[in-house]
Amino acid sequence: MTDPNLVARLVSVLVALAVSTGTTHAAAPPNVVVIFIDDLGYGDIGPFGATKQQTPNLDRMAAEGMKLTSFYAAPVCSVSRAQLLTGCYGVRVGVPGVYFPAGPKGLNPAEVTIAERLKSLGYATACVGKWHLGDQPEFLPTRQGFDRYYGIPYSNDMQRVSVATGQRVVPLLRDETVAELLTDEMQTAIVEKSTAEAVRFIEEAKDGPFFLYMPHTAVHAPIVPGKRFQGKTQNGKFGDWVAEVDWSVGEVLDAIRRLKLADNTLVIFTSDNGPWVGVVGDATTAGPLRGSKGSTWEGGVRVPTIAWWPGRIKPGTTCDAVAGTIDLLPTCVKLAGGTVPSEPVIDGRDMSGLLLGSSPESPRYAHFYFLGEGLQAVRKGRWKLAIASQASGMGIKNALAPEPASLDQPRLYDLDADIGETTNVAASHPEVVADLKALAAAMQQDLGNPQSPTRRPPGIVANPQTIYPTVLQSPKQSKEPKGTGSARE
Ligand code: MG
Repeated sequence: MTDPNLVARLVSVLVALAVSTGTTHAAAPPNVVVIFIDDLGYGDIGPFGATKQQTPNLDRMAAEGMKLTSFYAAPVCSVSRAQLLTGCYGVRVGVPGVYFPAGPKGLNPAEVTIAERLKSLGYATACVGKWHLGDQPEFLPTRQGFDRYYGIPYSNDMQRVSVATGQRVVPLLRDETVAELLTDEMQTAIVEKSTAEAVRFIEEAKDGPFFLYMPHTAVHAPIVPGKRFQGKTQNGKFGDWVAEVDWSVGEVLDAIRRLKLADNTLVIFTSDNGPWVGVVGDATTAGPLRGSKGSTWEGGVRVPTIAWWPGRIKPGTTCDAVAGTIDLLPTCVKLAGGTVPSEPVIDGRDMSGLLLGSSPESPRYAHFYFLGEGLQAVRKGRWKLAIASQASGMGIKNALAPEPASLDQPRLYDLDADIGETTNVAASHPEVVADLKALAAAMQQDLGNPQSPTRRPPGIVANPQTIYPTVLQSPKQSKEPKGTGSARE
């Protein structure tokens, strides 16, 4: 006779064996690298049609990975960074506009960033590049889930006159300490320094998992390509700087290959907003898209994006489903084996199905286009409905008057047939207009309403200081608007 206790013991041993085998064979959480270029237009790189400069490393990345052709950021820098890091529209987390040095506001330390979520899942984390979510110590990357930080903490055109040197400079931080004060001339080394720092982090964290967030200072004006790249393209300094960014991408991907991490590393390349045509001019371009940085026309917010993960993402593919930076947090947490709690609310959705080819459908029912705190448009599938006047971009001289629209008199575009948003087809599609109007009205009630309980506050500090001693500029000299949080750069 069999001893029932023995049977029970045997069963429990077998179950334990099965569980431990399953655990052993489960895929290790992937490393994640997000390369986030500043002000790179939809048409500025080879895989998205650029002809004015060559980008061989990005061409190879796209050939080995997936192009995402309907991937959305935000119209301006700080908002775009808040979105990527929190998985929320900027207005939800109190970041509707751009921050300036020594402002009192920043991304609320209470917000849980993608770095904090991945860190809690055992990831080593680093931020290398432009932070731009507040420069006070309370707001720095090291307080938002990053083990380390190296970079210029805001835009490279936010120079102030240093008391120490008498020169107009921006600070280069290591963690929370000013390592160097950079003149515009010294800024020409920023891509090379950032690339070296990124590769060093990958080497040190190779036993993984790691999360590297690399928001480049490039290619935001002032345009300061590295000396090795100056004069290398037919597209002036801007083209040269894009070429240097392309080199940097190659260095990062080469490091990943050399360390034999490619089959377990997801790399996303994207941009924070459209091209700054108003300042850089025609060297930068949104390609076939209408509008530029600062606008909710497609050219202001649809950004050139490539996802690379050899063995997991099918090579040479293109995905036109609607996705965006707000989806990176839930996607990466899912891939890392974690879950995002239902509270606090986020707007992004897990898009790993698009990347891994298990689902061609966007994980979101719609995408909403905000400028500042105002909702300007909504996209569902191929259709985009504009419900507010849209300017063509920031700083454009002799710009055409914004094209008017309202919730009662909206404009409708078929983006599949008319990617350049040239023809309002609202009159021919009343049922589509009604559907998208209802979505827009609901979002107006939610995030469009300053009293909405679903909007969360920014962080605010008393007595903010510049992070290096600066000569006080008279208001006439100062380019910055009063307060912070404006939708301007
Ligand atoms: Mg930008």
